[in-house]
Amino acid sequence: MDTADGGEGFDGLRVCDCTRCPALVESRSQIVNGVGPSDASLLFVGEGPGATEDEQGEPFVGRSGDVLEEALSAAGVSREAIRITNCVRCRPPENRDPKAEELQNCRGYLETEIETVGPDLLVTLGKVPSQHLLDRSVAITKEAGSIVETRLGGAPRRVLLSMHPAATLYDRSQREPFFETIAEAAAIAGMADDDSHNGQSRLGEF
Ligand code: SF4
Repeated sequence: MDTADGGEGFDGLRVCDCTRCPALVESRSQIVNGVGPSDASLLFVGEGPGATEDEQGEPFVGRSGDVLEEALSAAGVSREAIRITNCVRCRPPENRDPKAEELQNCRGYLETEIETVGPDLLVTLGKVPSQHLLDRSVAITKEAGSIVETRLGGAPRRVLLSMHPAATLYDRSQREPFFETIAEAAAIAGMADDDSHNGQSRLGEF
């Protein structure tokens, strides 16, 4: 669980220049850093940039980002209020999973970002970030919605495991549990809007 050494143009949140993963340097258009407040209560962690993220330079844009934004909105939370980042900041070729070595290369940046932001709760979006942060195998369909305590960014942290929002696009039945997990995250972080905007009450609208 090393932390980044501050080299390669890293200010604690944004990496400006990094060539640690040769294959990803080849496949990326740009480095995709986390976005959102540097003191956010909720920090979402995804796997890595896909094609749209690589093009726009922002995590969770495109269809998956739309689903996440809908779920946040249903929970009464604006996307601008939360921070989103990824385990690796450069797009893997052919959208393959990041390799263990690449995850490890980028780990220090993520650890330091977690330490800098100091969120009340981390939310892992999908199997890869869940396994990476917990350093164990995760059956995400069974464990989504559960909270695990682990040491990240130099301190004990609560981590809420969630399926990837794209899962709801492939399997509509995953939509309700995903929305419920995001509503749970908002409630734990004290961000839920009780004025009829909680995830349960608005689920029927989507
Ligand atoms: S994925 Fe992370 S460690 Fe690898 S080149 Fe990109 S910024 Fe550097």
